[in-house]
Amino acid sequence: MLKINSNFLNLKDSYLFATVGKKTAAYKKEHPEKDVIRLSIGDVTLPLAPVVVEAMHKAVDDMSRRETFKGYGPDQYCYGYESLIRSILGSYARKGVQLQPSEVFVSDGAKSDCGNILNIFSGENTVLVPDPVYPVYVDTNVMDGRNIVYMNANAENGFLPMPDEGVNADIIYLCSPNNPTGAAYSREQLKVWVDYALKRNAVILYDAAYEYFVTDKSLARSIYEVEGAQQCAIEICSYSKTAGFTGVRCGYTVVPQALVREGVSLNKLWARRQSTKFNGVSYVTQMGAAAVFTEEGERQISENLNYYRKNAQTIAQCLDELDIWYTGGKNSPYIWLKCPNGMESWAFFDYLLENANVVGTPGSGFGKNGEGYFRLTAFGSAESTREACRRIKALLEKK
Ligand code: PLP
Repeated sequence: MLKINSNFLNLKDSYLFATVGKKTAAYKKEHPEKDVIRLSIGDVTLPLAPVVVEAMHKAVDDMSRRETFKGYGPDQYCYGYESLIRSILGSYARKGVQLQPSEVFVSDGAKSDCGNILNIFSGENTVLVPDPVYPVYVDTNVMDGRNIVYMNANAENGFLPMPDEGVNADIIYLCSPNNPTGAAYSREQLKVWVDYALKRNAVILYDAAYEYFVTDKSLARSIYEVEGAQQCAIEICSYSKTAGFTGVRCGYTVVPQALVREGVSLNKLWARRQSTKFNGVSYVTQMGAAAVFTEEGERQISENLNYYRKNAQTIAQCLDELDIWYTGGKNSPYIWLKCPNGMESWAFFDYLLENANVVGTPGSGFGKNGEGYFRLTAFGSAESTREACRRIKALLEKK
């Protein structure tokens, strides 16, 4: 008899964004005259950089002529074009990290690879994930039936949990700068994680989707800035937040040649997995992505990143003035704040929606340690961010 993957039945329904949407829509229906501002957006809003658009236009022209037409991508690097891979290597070299082309795998984004990478690991491994957490790490492991152990991220550790020597884990998820908390690890902190992983023969899955928001020089932008990381870490990256590619879809995953477990190269396993189950990212997309890490590309994307950074600063300044505790906002588009007056996350959501007409995301939706916290994002317009902060200040100053 056919059997389904019954692990799917163990997934918890995610009501977070659906409930945020429903509550917001209901409020707007009841109060059509109100201007509701969404500081809950986890998606970029600014258009692609001109160099990217130009490269994509040129790539479309290439596809229109027999002499320059492209079919499947090159086999050599699992369908990644060498020009794109070389530009990614250049971006790493500027961080002081030397990689080889065969270590970079072009993907259609970080979410797919966060899930797909698990194909190369046994379902018997124990997985360590922070709480609160980007829900994809949990759900993809539940689908495979893996044992999940949580590590507490909280105000005491600045939402940056460090290894507990008493916990044995095989696969460790680290996300820095973090979604939802905006907290980012320093190189020294990552060194402790790398040493812990090496000691246990564990593998760190390092999600660097927000690394381009880091400006503080003491913080790591890649786990490979830390010695020993190439022996224990896979890094998952994305053009989504770096260059506004959420709708274009492109990312890359680094699996170093030095990463070997049970005498087997994880790079070889991943190459085999990708060449079997994946046929690459479109030529037009890859050419657009290759333009991102050129000198002009980096200059242009930094204009967009600075725009979001300024919004984050506006929100952080508002919270500073209100004396509200928060993480993030400085090296991240996310601001994770403690709900004032001991309010629970959903109570604060309702309070803010009804009294300031501002929408955020309740922290409790990201895990039990998120209760009492709230996520605001910097992806809105500068005007609406300023207006939202003005309203939040007026409301909370009164209390
Ligand atoms: N990783 C984290 C931590 C994210 O917050 C997101 C998107 O919000 C992703 C990965 C997914 O990125 P992509 O658009 O590249 O799939």
